[in-house]
Amino acid sequence: MTTTLPDWCRRARFAAVLGVCAALSLRHGGGLEHLTAAPQTAAAPSGSLEILEVRPSFFVIAGTANIGVQVGEDGVVVVDTGPAGEAPAVLAAIKRISPKPIRYIIDTGPDADHVGGNEALTQAGEKLVLGTNSGGGPNATDSMVPILSAEGVLRHMATFPAAAWPTDVFNYSRKYMYFNGEAIEVLHQSAAHTDSDVVAFFRRSDVVVAGDVLDTRQFPVIDVDRGGSIQGEIAALNRLVELAVPSVPIVAREAGTIVVPGHGRLCDQYDVVEYRDMVTIIRDRVRALTKAGRSLAEIKAAQPAKGYMGRYGNPGGAWTADRFIEAIYRSLSKEKS
Ligand SMILES: [Zn+2]
Repeated sequence: MTTTLPDWCRRARFAAVLGVCAALSLRHGGGLEHLTAAPQTAAAPSGSLEILEVRPSFFVIAGTANIGVQVGEDGVVVVDTGPAGEAPAVLAAIKRISPKPIRYIIDTGPDADHVGGNEALTQAGEKLVLGTNSGGGPNATDSMVPILSAEGVLRHMATFPAAAWPTDVFNYSRKYMYFNGEAIEVLHQSAAHTDSDVVAFFRRSDVVVAGDVLDTRQFPVIDVDRGGSIQGEIAALNRLVELAVPSVPIVAREAGTIVVPGHGRLCDQYDVVEYRDMVTIIRDRVRALTKAGRSLAEIKAAQPAKGYMGRYGNPGGAWTADRFIEAIYRSLSKEKS
């Protein structure tokens, strides 16, 4: 069986290739044979974590929530910090990628598996520019590496130690900065997975780190209690579709923008379109059933996620199809009221 992996995947030098590329090869209908002999190069496994070079200046640490690592002259910019318990392994993985210090941290959302390493990583870093903290928790001191997030993350992290809180928060649509010779846009999605998600777009690397608005393992988690909504989720996916450019007209190159989901395998624009369409179709089914006067129990029984259960049902996982349907139902009825 022959498989053509996308160019960026083939080029990627892995610690352990079997994670992301294996998922990709399965998706493209291939086996694993051609991957098992992949050469070991610079990076090596850090415990259960995998390091993946997706661009010369951009790496992904996989094995927890996906962590984006941009490297260059200025140092290291990290997007998401993983769970607290993995912080030593994450730090070790970052060290393998670059000897330079961590300069900046971006949190894509408030979940513990994305912000748990904040404290350890900010303490391990070295601030590049003094005196730039523009707000955030009372812990913000001038020597700490800034942790950037949407403002709501600070609110949702009230139970975390203060040293883990974001120090640089914003509540408008687009925050930007320039690090390592490239523009970085941090785009707020106001009511998607939660009320405080951001996606981080590295314009020269052509990589978007999407956080939990995109999760290829399962239906997207919509946390209605923390301000998430189905409409905002679809809006966030549409924004990703707009940011990403696919490999056209020369499709055979399999190049194009790389979208890093919060969890699961790396995506291109087509993958995000497919995911967005899946979410939209299920939303439409739930809405039609709601309009027909069905109760939540009746809607669940009608199986509006039919056709997608095999791929996104995630049996045994915490985020079941029923919970997804319930989140859609609740967010649609909130809208009506
Ligand atoms: Zn997550």
